[in-house]
Amino acid sequence: MVTMAKQILILGGGYGGLLTALTARKHLSAAEAQITIINRFSTHQIITELHRLAGGTIKEQAVALPLQKLLGDKDVNIVVDTITEIKPNDKQVITANGAYTYDALVVAMGSETNYFGIPGLEENSFVLKSAADANRIREHVEARLDAYKASGNKADATIVVGGGGLTGVELVGEFADKLPEVCRSKGIDYSDISIYCVEAGPAILPVFPKVLIERAVSSLEKRGITFLTGVAITEATKNTVSLKNGQTIESNTIIWTGGVKGNPVVGSCGIAEDRGRATVTSTLQSTSHADVFLAGDCAVVFPEGGERPYPPTAQLAWQMGETVGHNLAVQIKGGAMEKFTPVFSGTLGSLGRKDGIGTIGGNSTQLKGLPASLMKEASNIRYLSHIHGLFALAY
Ligand code: NAD
Repeated sequence: MVTMAKQILILGGGYGGLLTALTARKHLSAAEAQITIINRFSTHQIITELHRLAGGTIKEQAVALPLQKLLGDKDVNIVVDTITEIKPNDKQVITANGAYTYDALVVAMGSETNYFGIPGLEENSFVLKSAADANRIREHVEARLDAYKASGNKADATIVVGGGGLTGVELVGEFADKLPEVCRSKGIDYSDISIYCVEAGPAILPVFPKVLIERAVSSLEKRGITFLTGVAITEATKNTVSLKNGQTIESNTIIWTGGVKGNPVVGSCGIAEDRGRATVTSTLQSTSHADVFLAGDCAVVFPEGGERPYPPTAQLAWQMGETVGHNLAVQIKGGAMEKFTPVFSGTLGSLGRKDGIGTIGGNSTQLKGLPASLMKEASNIRYLSHIHGLFALAY
Protein backbone atom coordinates (compact mmCIF):
# COMPACT_ATOMS: atom_id res chain seq x y z
CA MET A 1 0.00 0.00 0.00
CA VAL A 2 1.34 3.45 -0.89
CA THR A 3 0.58 6.15 1.64
CA MET A 4 1.02 9.82 0.89
CA ALA A 5 3.74 11.72 2.71
CA LYS A 6 2.31 13.88 5.49
CA GLN A 7 2.80 17.62 5.20
CA ILE A 8 4.64 19.15 8.14
CA LEU A 9 4.70 22.93 8.11
CA ILE A 10 7.09 24.73 10.47
CA LEU A 11 6.59 28.45 11.07
CA GLY A 12 9.85 30.11 12.08
CA GLY A 13 13.50 29.25 11.51
CA GLY A 14 14.86 30.24 14.92
CA TYR A 15 16.01 27.83 17.62
CA GLY A 16 12.61 26.12 18.01
CA GLY A 17 11.87 25.81 14.28
CA LEU A 18 15.33 24.67 13.20
CA LEU A 19 15.64 22.05 15.92
CA THR A 20 12.15 20.78 15.13
CA ALA A 21 13.09 20.34 11.47
CA LEU A 22 16.40 18.62 12.22
CA THR A 23 14.88 16.28 14.79
CA ALA A 24 11.76 15.44 12.77
CA ARG A 25 13.94 14.57 9.78
CA LYS A 26 15.99 12.19 11.91
CA HIS A 27 12.85 10.16 12.62
CA LEU A 28 10.89 10.61 9.39
CA SER A 29 11.98 9.80 5.84
CA ALA A 30 11.02 12.02 2.91
CA ALA A 31 8.47 9.35 1.91
CA GLU A 32 6.86 9.64 5.34
CA ALA A 33 6.80 13.42 5.64
CA GLN A 34 7.40 16.47 3.54
CA ILE A 35 8.83 19.18 5.75
CA THR A 36 8.52 22.87 4.89
CA ILE A 37 9.96 25.65 7.02
CA ILE A 38 8.82 29.24 6.51
CA ASN A 39 11.02 32.00 7.89
CA ARG A 40 11.11 35.75 7.35
CA PHE A 41 14.86 35.59 6.70
CA SER A 42 16.92 33.18 4.62
CA THR A 43 19.13 32.72 7.68
CA HIS A 44 18.93 31.05 11.08
CA GLN A 45 20.03 33.79 13.48
CA ILE A 46 22.01 33.23 16.66
CA ILE A 47 20.20 35.93 18.59
CA THR A 48 22.17 35.24 21.77
CA GLU A 49 25.20 36.77 20.01
CA LEU A 50 23.52 39.77 18.34
CA HIS A 51 25.02 42.25 20.82
CA ARG A 52 28.41 41.44 19.35
CA LEU A 53 27.26 42.31 15.82
CA ALA A 54 25.72 45.54 17.14
CA GLY A 55 28.94 46.43 18.90
CA GLY A 56 31.01 45.52 15.86
CA THR A 57 33.12 42.74 17.38
CA ILE A 58 31.97 40.02 14.94
CA LYS A 59 30.74 39.77 11.36
CA GLU A 60 27.16 39.15 10.28
CA GLN A 61 28.03 35.66 8.95
CA ALA A 62 28.90 34.61 12.51
CA VAL A 63 25.30 35.11 13.65
CA ALA A 64 23.25 34.64 10.47
CA LEU A 65 23.65 31.11 9.12
CA PRO A 66 22.00 30.31 5.77
CA LEU A 67 19.10 27.89 6.35
CA GLN A 68 19.98 26.35 3.00
CA LYS A 69 23.39 25.41 4.36
CA LEU A 70 21.93 23.90 7.54
CA LEU A 71 18.96 22.09 5.98
CA GLY A 72 19.66 21.89 2.24
CA ASP A 73 20.79 18.25 2.30
CA LYS A 74 17.96 17.15 4.59
CA ASP A 75 15.00 17.26 2.22
CA VAL A 76 13.49 20.27 3.94
CA ASN A 77 11.78 22.92 1.78
CA ILE A 78 12.81 26.41 2.80
CA VAL A 79 10.43 29.28 2.11
CA VAL A 80 11.51 32.84 2.84
CA ASP A 81 8.29 34.73 3.50
CA THR A 82 6.39 36.60 6.19
CA ILE A 83 3.59 34.75 7.95
CA THR A 84 0.56 37.00 8.24
CA GLU A 85 -2.19 34.68 9.44
CA ILE A 86 -2.67 31.20 10.89
CA LYS A 87 -6.09 29.57 10.40
CA PRO A 88 -5.94 26.49 12.63
CA ASN A 89 -9.56 25.48 11.97
CA ASP A 90 -8.96 25.45 8.19
CA LYS A 91 -5.47 23.93 8.52
CA GLN A 92 -4.13 26.84 6.55
CA VAL A 93 -1.35 29.42 6.88
CA ILE A 94 -1.31 32.68 4.93
CA THR A 95 1.94 34.46 4.08
CA ALA A 96 2.70 37.73 2.33
CA ASN A 97 3.16 35.78 -0.91
CA GLY A 98 1.11 32.63 -0.62
CA ALA A 99 -1.01 30.13 1.30
CA TYR A 100 -0.06 26.73 2.72
CA THR A 101 -1.97 23.76 4.06
CA TYR A 102 -0.66 21.14 6.46
CA ASP A 103 -1.30 17.87 8.24
CA ALA A 104 0.76 18.96 11.24
CA LEU A 105 1.75 22.52 12.07
CA VAL A 106 4.64 23.71 14.23
CA VAL A 107 4.46 27.28 15.42
CA ALA A 108 7.88 28.57 16.46
CA MET A 109 7.57 32.27 15.71
CA GLY A 110 9.34 33.69 18.74
CA SER A 111 8.51 36.83 20.64
CA GLU A 112 8.24 40.53 19.88
CA THR A 113 9.48 43.63 21.63
CA ASN A 114 7.16 44.89 24.35
CA TYR A 115 6.97 48.68 24.44
CA PHE A 116 4.41 48.64 27.30
CA GLY A 117 2.60 51.52 25.58
CA ILE A 118 5.35 53.99 26.56
CA PRO A 119 4.76 57.12 24.44
CA GLY A 120 7.20 57.65 21.57
CA LEU A 121 9.29 54.59 22.33
CA GLU A 122 8.42 52.38 19.37
CA GLU A 123 8.88 55.21 16.84
CA ASN A 124 12.13 56.50 18.30
CA SER A 125 14.13 53.52 19.48
CA PHE A 126 16.18 50.70 18.04
CA VAL A 127 15.70 47.10 19.13
CA LEU A 128 18.02 44.09 19.06
CA LYS A 129 15.96 41.20 17.74
CA SER A 130 17.64 40.35 14.42
CA ALA A 131 20.92 40.68 12.54
CA ALA A 132 19.39 43.56 10.57
CA ASP A 133 18.55 45.33 13.86
CA ALA A 134 22.12 44.82 15.07
CA ASN A 135 23.53 46.27 11.83
CA ARG A 136 21.20 49.25 12.14
CA ILE A 137 22.41 49.95 15.69
CA ARG A 138 26.11 49.71 14.77
CA GLU A 139 25.74 51.92 11.68
CA HIS A 140 23.65 54.48 13.56
CA VAL A 141 26.10 54.72 16.47
CA GLU A 142 28.99 55.25 14.05
CA ALA A 143 27.05 57.89 12.12
CA ARG A 144 26.20 59.76 15.35
CA LEU A 145 29.84 59.69 16.40
CA ASP A 146 30.79 61.22 13.04
CA ALA A 147 28.09 63.85 13.56
CA TYR A 148 29.47 64.53 17.06
CA LYS A 149 32.94 65.01 15.65
CA ALA A 150 31.55 67.56 13.19
CA SER A 151 29.13 69.47 15.44
CA GLY A 152 30.06 68.73 19.07
CA ASN A 153 26.36 68.09 19.80
CA LYS A 154 26.37 66.07 23.06
CA ALA A 155 23.15 64.22 22.08
CA ASP A 156 25.19 62.55 19.32
CA ALA A 157 27.70 61.31 21.89
CA THR A 158 25.01 59.92 24.22
CA ILE A 159 23.58 56.41 24.03
CA VAL A 160 20.65 55.31 26.16
CA VAL A 161 19.88 51.61 26.53
CA GLY A 162 16.46 51.08 28.12
CA GLY A 163 16.28 47.87 30.15
CA GLY A 164 18.92 46.23 32.32
CA GLY A 165 18.08 42.62 31.49
CA LEU A 166 20.61 40.37 29.76
CA THR A 167 20.00 41.91 26.34
CA GLY A 168 20.67 45.46 27.55
CA VAL A 169 23.66 44.60 29.72
CA GLU A 170 25.38 42.42 27.10
CA LEU A 171 24.93 45.25 24.60
CA VAL A 172 26.48 47.94 26.82
CA GLY A 173 29.31 45.48 27.50
CA GLU A 174 30.13 45.42 23.78
CA PHE A 175 29.91 49.21 23.57
CA ALA A 176 32.27 49.52 26.53
CA ASP A 177 34.79 47.32 24.75
CA LYS A 178 34.51 48.54 21.21
CA LEU A 179 33.69 52.25 21.37
CA PRO A 180 37.05 53.36 22.83
CA GLU A 181 38.68 51.91 19.72
CA VAL A 182 36.04 53.38 17.37
CA CYS A 183 36.46 56.79 19.04
CA ARG A 184 40.24 56.63 18.71
CA SER A 185 39.92 55.89 15.00
CA LYS A 186 37.66 58.93 14.59
CA GLY A 187 39.77 61.27 16.72
CA ILE A 188 37.11 61.53 19.46
CA ASP A 189 37.90 61.39 23.18
CA TYR A 190 36.04 58.33 24.59
CA SER A 191 35.48 60.22 27.84
CA ASP A 192 33.15 62.55 25.88
CA ILE A 193 30.79 59.62 25.29
CA SER A 194 27.95 58.91 27.75
CA ILE A 195 26.43 55.42 27.74
CA TYR A 196 23.44 54.96 30.04
CA CYS A 197 21.68 51.75 30.94
CA VAL A 198 18.32 52.60 32.51
CA GLU A 199 16.58 49.92 34.57
CA ALA A 200 13.14 50.34 36.17
CA GLY A 201 13.72 47.62 38.76
CA PRO A 202 15.91 48.08 41.84
CA ALA A 203 18.87 46.30 40.17
CA ILE A 204 20.06 45.16 36.77
CA LEU A 205 20.10 41.43 35.92
CA PRO A 206 17.68 40.26 38.63
CA VAL A 207 18.20 36.62 37.53
CA PHE A 208 21.65 36.63 39.14
CA PRO A 209 22.71 36.58 42.82
CA LYS A 210 23.67 39.92 44.36
CA VAL A 211 27.41 39.30 44.27
CA LEU A 212 27.37 38.72 40.52
CA ILE A 213 25.17 41.77 39.90
CA GLU A 214 27.68 43.89 41.83
CA ARG A 215 30.48 42.41 39.80
CA ALA A 216 28.69 43.30 36.54
CA VAL A 217 28.02 46.87 37.66
CA SER A 218 31.56 47.55 38.83
CA SER A 219 33.13 45.94 35.76
CA LEU A 220 31.03 48.03 33.38
CA GLU A 221 31.17 51.27 35.37
CA LYS A 222 34.96 51.09 35.23
CA ARG A 223 34.67 51.01 31.45
CA GLY A 224 32.42 54.06 31.19
CA ILE A 225 28.85 52.77 31.57
CA THR A 226 26.42 54.70 33.80
CA PHE A 227 23.62 52.66 35.37
CA LEU A 228 20.42 54.39 36.40
CA THR A 229 18.41 51.87 38.43
CA GLY A 230 15.03 52.07 40.11
CA VAL A 231 13.87 54.53 37.50
CA ALA A 232 11.63 53.78 34.52
CA ILE A 233 11.71 55.33 31.07
CA THR A 234 8.36 57.07 30.65
CA GLU A 235 8.64 58.68 27.22
CA ALA A 236 10.96 58.99 24.24
CA THR A 237 11.26 61.47 21.41
CA LYS A 238 13.73 61.48 18.53
CA ASN A 239 16.37 63.05 20.78
CA THR A 240 15.22 62.78 24.39
CA VAL A 241 14.46 60.11 26.95
CA SER A 242 12.24 61.04 29.89
CA LEU A 243 12.56 59.24 33.20
CA LYS A 244 10.04 58.70 35.97
CA ASN A 245 12.09 60.87 38.37
CA GLY A 246 11.61 63.89 36.12
CA GLN A 247 15.08 63.71 34.56
CA THR A 248 15.45 64.08 30.79
CA ILE A 249 18.45 62.73 28.88
CA GLU A 250 19.24 64.25 25.51
CA SER A 251 20.28 61.42 23.24
CA ASN A 252 20.15 60.69 19.53
CA THR A 253 20.57 56.95 20.13
CA ILE A 254 17.88 55.16 22.10
CA ILE A 255 17.92 51.37 22.21
CA TRP A 256 15.02 49.55 23.84
CA THR A 257 15.65 46.16 25.47
CA GLY A 258 12.90 46.48 28.09
CA GLY A 259 11.15 43.18 27.52
CA VAL A 260 9.37 40.81 25.18
CA LYS A 261 5.79 39.66 24.58
CA GLY A 262 4.16 36.86 22.63
CA ASN A 263 3.98 36.99 18.85
CA PRO A 264 0.67 38.71 17.92
CA VAL A 265 0.07 36.48 14.85
CA VAL A 266 0.10 33.49 17.22
CA GLY A 267 -1.80 35.17 20.06
CA SER A 268 -4.70 36.18 17.81
CA CYS A 269 -5.00 33.11 15.55
CA GLY A 270 -7.61 31.21 17.51
CA ILE A 271 -5.46 28.61 19.28
CA ALA A 272 -5.71 28.69 23.07
CA GLU A 273 -3.46 31.36 24.59
CA ASP A 274 -2.52 33.04 27.84
CA ARG A 275 -1.57 36.73 27.58
CA GLY A 276 -0.68 36.34 23.92
CA ARG A 277 1.41 33.17 24.23
CA ALA A 278 0.06 29.78 23.16
CA THR A 279 -0.75 27.34 25.94
CA VAL A 280 0.59 23.81 25.54
CA THR A 281 0.10 20.29 26.82
CA SER A 282 2.99 18.38 28.39
CA THR A 283 3.77 17.06 24.88
CA LEU A 284 3.94 20.62 23.48
CA GLN A 285 0.69 20.43 21.51
CA SER A 286 -1.69 23.36 21.57
CA THR A 287 -4.22 22.87 24.36
CA SER A 288 -6.97 23.56 21.81
CA HIS A 289 -5.59 22.00 18.58
CA ALA A 290 -3.78 18.62 18.75
CA ASP A 291 -2.39 19.02 15.20
CA VAL A 292 -0.56 22.22 16.22
CA PHE A 293 2.76 21.94 18.08
CA LEU A 294 4.56 24.86 19.70
CA ALA A 295 8.24 25.59 20.28
CA GLY A 296 10.04 28.59 21.74
CA ASP A 297 9.01 32.01 23.03
CA CYS A 298 5.58 32.09 21.31
CA ALA A 299 4.43 29.38 23.73
CA VAL A 300 4.10 29.61 27.48
CA VAL A 301 5.24 26.56 29.45
CA PHE A 302 4.66 26.07 33.15
CA PRO A 303 6.61 23.62 35.30
CA GLU A 304 4.34 20.85 36.59
CA GLY A 305 2.37 22.35 39.45
CA GLY A 306 4.26 25.66 39.10
CA GLU A 307 2.66 29.08 38.78
CA ARG A 308 5.44 30.99 37.05
CA PRO A 309 6.23 30.02 33.46
CA TYR A 310 9.72 29.15 32.31
CA PRO A 311 11.61 32.19 30.95
CA PRO A 312 11.69 32.67 27.17
CA THR A 313 15.25 31.59 26.41
CA ALA A 314 17.18 30.07 23.53
CA GLN A 315 18.08 26.94 25.51
CA LEU A 316 14.41 26.27 26.17
CA ALA A 317 13.42 26.87 22.53
CA TRP A 318 16.15 24.44 21.40
CA GLN A 319 14.91 21.73 23.78
CA MET A 320 11.27 22.34 22.87
CA GLY A 321 12.16 21.96 19.18
CA GLU A 322 13.72 18.56 19.84
CA THR A 323 10.69 17.34 21.77
CA VAL A 324 8.35 18.61 19.05
CA GLY A 325 10.43 16.94 16.31
CA HIS A 326 10.18 13.63 18.15
CA ASN A 327 6.47 13.99 18.86
CA LEU A 328 5.67 14.84 15.24
CA ALA A 329 7.15 11.49 14.23
CA VAL A 330 5.04 9.76 16.86
CA GLN A 331 1.89 11.52 15.67
CA ILE A 332 2.59 10.33 12.12
CA LYS A 333 3.96 6.83 12.76
CA GLY A 334 2.61 5.91 16.19
CA GLY A 335 4.33 5.27 19.51
CA ALA A 336 4.48 7.19 22.76
CA MET A 337 4.93 10.95 22.76
CA GLU A 338 7.67 12.48 24.89
CA LYS A 339 6.75 14.83 27.73
CA PHE A 340 8.69 18.07 27.69
CA THR A 341 11.12 18.08 30.61
CA PRO A 342 13.54 20.99 30.29
CA VAL A 343 17.10 20.75 31.54
CA PHE A 344 18.60 24.04 32.70
CA SER A 345 22.30 24.22 32.11
CA GLY A 346 22.51 27.74 33.55
CA THR A 347 22.62 31.39 32.55
CA LEU A 348 25.65 33.18 31.19
CA GLY A 349 25.96 36.87 30.50
CA SER A 350 28.85 38.53 28.74
CA LEU A 351 30.21 41.89 29.94
CA GLY A 352 32.24 42.55 26.82
CA ARG A 353 34.93 40.38 25.32
CA LYS A 354 36.93 39.55 28.42
CA ASP A 355 34.46 39.55 31.27
CA GLY A 356 31.25 37.80 32.11
CA ILE A 357 29.09 36.33 34.85
CA GLY A 358 27.12 33.15 35.08
CA THR A 359 25.46 30.49 37.15
CA ILE A 360 25.76 26.97 35.82
CA GLY A 361 24.71 23.42 36.57
CA GLY A 362 22.13 22.01 38.96
CA ASN A 363 23.76 23.64 42.00
CA SER A 364 24.04 27.06 40.29
CA THR A 365 27.81 27.31 40.52
CA GLN A 366 28.81 30.95 40.18
CA LEU A 367 31.27 32.03 37.52
CA LYS A 368 32.83 35.40 36.84
CA GLY A 369 35.58 36.81 34.66
CA LEU A 370 37.40 34.68 32.14
CA PRO A 371 35.79 31.35 33.14
CA ALA A 372 32.35 32.88 32.51
CA SER A 373 33.46 34.33 29.16
CA LEU A 374 34.97 31.02 28.11
CA MET A 375 31.86 29.15 29.19
CA LYS A 376 29.69 31.50 27.15
CA GLU A 377 31.94 30.98 24.14
CA ALA A 378 31.81 27.21 24.70
CA SER A 379 28.05 27.27 24.92
CA ASN A 380 27.86 29.00 21.53
CA ILE A 381 30.29 26.51 20.00
CA ARG A 382 28.32 23.61 21.48
CA TYR A 383 25.15 24.92 19.86
CA LEU A 384 26.80 25.55 16.49
CA SER A 385 28.30 22.08 16.56
CA HIS A 386 24.91 20.58 17.37
CA ILE A 387 23.30 22.18 14.30
CA HIS A 388 26.37 21.51 12.11
CA GLY A 389 26.93 25.24 11.88
CA LEU A 390 30.56 25.45 13.01
CA PHE A 391 31.34 27.19 9.71
CA ALA A 392 30.01 30.37 11.39
CA LEU A 393 33.14 30.42 13.55
CA ALA A 394 35.22 31.21 10.47
CA TYR A 395 33.98 34.81 10.70
P1 NAD B 1 14.03 41.14 30.21
O1 NAD B 1 12.56 41.18 30.31
O2 NAD B 1 14.77 40.04 30.83
O3 NAD B 1 14.66 42.52 30.77
C1 NAD B 1 14.07 43.75 30.51
C2 NAD B 1 14.40 44.72 31.64
O4 NAD B 1 13.87 45.99 31.28
C3 NAD B 1 13.79 44.32 32.97
O5 NAD B 1 14.80 44.25 33.95
C4 NAD B 1 12.78 45.42 33.23
O6 NAD B 1 12.68 45.76 34.61
C5 NAD B 1 13.35 46.58 32.45
N1 NAD B 1 12.32 47.57 32.08
C6 NAD B 1 11.03 47.33 31.70
N2 NAD B 1 10.38 48.49 31.49
C7 NAD B 1 11.26 49.48 31.73
C8 NAD B 1 11.19 50.90 31.66
N3 NAD B 1 10.08 51.53 31.31
N4 NAD B 1 12.30 51.62 31.94
C9 NAD B 1 13.45 51.00 32.28
N5 NAD B 1 13.57 49.66 32.36
C10 NAD B 1 12.50 48.91 32.09
O7 NAD B 1 14.34 41.25 28.62
P2 NAD B 1 15.65 40.77 27.81
O8 NAD B 1 16.88 41.22 28.48
O9 NAD B 1 15.43 41.17 26.41
O10 NAD B 1 15.57 39.19 27.92
C11 NAD B 1 14.44 38.46 27.41
C12 NAD B 1 14.64 36.97 27.73
O11 NAD B 1 15.74 36.47 27.01
C13 NAD B 1 14.92 36.71 29.20
O12 NAD B 1 14.33 35.51 29.58
C14 NAD B 1 16.43 36.59 29.24
O13 NAD B 1 16.90 35.83 30.32
C15 NAD B 1 16.72 35.97 27.89
N6 NAD B 1 18.07 36.37 27.43
C16 NAD B 1 19.11 35.56 27.80
C17 NAD B 1 20.40 35.92 27.43
C18 NAD B 1 21.54 35.03 27.88
O14 NAD B 1 21.29 33.93 28.39
N7 NAD B 1 22.79 35.47 27.78
C19 NAD B 1 20.65 37.07 26.67
C20 NAD B 1 19.55 37.87 26.31
C21 NAD B 1 18.27 37.50 26.69
